[in-house]
Amino acid sequence: MKNFDIVILGSGASGVISAIEASASGKSIAIIDKNKSPAKKLMATGNGRCNLSNVICTPSVNFYNHNIDKFLQKFSPDDAIKFFENLGLCCYKDDEGRIYPLSGSAKSVIDVLCNKLEKCENICVFNEKIIEKIEKYGEKFKIFCQDEVFVATKLVVATGGNTFNLLQDLNLKVVKNFASLCALQTKENTKLLNGIRLSPVKVLAKCCDAKYCEVGEVLFKEHGLSGIAIFNASCIFARNKSYSGTILLDALPNTEIKDLIAKLQARRSLNVKVSKFFEGMFANGFAYYLFEKCKINENRISTEMSDKEIEMLAKTIKNLQFEVCGFYENNQVYSGGIDLCDLDENLQHKKYKNLYFCGEVCDVDGLCGGYNLQWAWTSGVIVGKNL
Ligand SMILES: Cc1cc2nc3c(=O)[nH]c(=O)nc-3n(C[C@H](O)[C@H](O)[C@H](O)COP(=O)(O)OP(=O)(O)OC[C@H]3O[C@@H](n4cnc5c(N)ncnc54)[C@H](O)[C@@H]3O)c2cc1C
Repeated sequence: MKNFDIVILGSGASGVISAIEASASGKSIAIIDKNKSPAKKLMATGNGRCNLSNVICTPSVNFYNHNIDKFLQKFSPDDAIKFFENLGLCCYKDDEGRIYPLSGSAKSVIDVLCNKLEKCENICVFNEKIIEKIEKYGEKFKIFCQDEVFVATKLVVATGGNTFNLLQDLNLKVVKNFASLCALQTKENTKLLNGIRLSPVKVLAKCCDAKYCEVGEVLFKEHGLSGIAIFNASCIFARNKSYSGTILLDALPNTEIKDLIAKLQARRSLNVKVSKFFEGMFANGFAYYLFEKCKINENRISTEMSDKEIEMLAKTIKNLQFEVCGFYENNQVYSGGIDLCDLDENLQHKKYKNLYFCGEVCDVDGLCGGYNLQWAWTSGVIVGKNL
């Protein structure tokens, strides 16, 4: 049995930063993960660039499922940038407030975190250890890995989303996990649209009584919708615990319907086959989808299209409706987790003294754009400082 003052389960974003913060206390710290090296998952984030934060995040309730301002005030996006710059990471901010490493590579973020971990002499990193169970052990905690048992005076759970099986013996209340920030499956066959990217598109998602609206990018799949605006819209399905509802797309959000009708009426004089009517305006697949939806015969000349047909096309372009019936398992996060009501202001469990939670294991999920990693840094630092 290995004894430590502090054991941190998971060396992902939140676990690593909590270990670094806690190391100032001088206590003995173990950080355990099944991966080969710490912070490995960061490599996949932000398409390999790691969108590590976003400076536009107040009021937080616009970006997260809860108002987490009281936590962000303790460690804000600016604090995260300073923290990383102190570790030697150069960052840059894009037009939408998203923060990336200047190198354009997530590896830089991993490198500076690992360099810092190596320098903290009181931190022992245990890689390639699968944690199987956690038990209360008197005032302490026992952590069972496949080949080793650890004992901790203080325990931090930073194992990410959908990992509650580990906590079974502690009998904690958890908000059920649902995949969020993912592509959505639709009842409609979107084969004709497969691979087509539209931007800007206005996305209006409706699930139960909740609505989400964003103007952004949509990427069509064979039986569904993807792209950042859809990933963000998926959060209302996850938070309402039901992947059933509708997505309405306005493919030309900056054009009023009457102007679009006038524009399409004018295009008739292109005097081309109807099948070529949208060439130069939309991708072919999108045009074919519109003709099919509006039941328009393509084997005519554009001048033969009636005002009614033009109006129908315009209305369809401004109001494409899809019925959501599921999700694709490429989710970036899980909604749900340990209820914040059960945690104190330092993210210590109210029922179990010395048991802390940080990162995605908590019931906090944000939109795409750096918000989820910011929560990992914020919660990890708050926990680390209080151990
Ligand atoms: C493809 C992808 C891209 C993303 N891009 C972004 C982005 O650009 N910006 C952003 O803000 N967010 C992004 N996210 C979300 C972000 O990665 C997470 O919110 C964040 O990593 C959560 O940090 P965490 O420390 O809570 O959990 P994690 O980073 O998931 O770390 C948990 C750790 O616990 C370990 N673990 C779990 N169970 C066990 C076990 N039983 N035994 C041993 N070890 C275990 C795991 O191996 C892992 O290392 C992305 C997610 C994905 C999947």
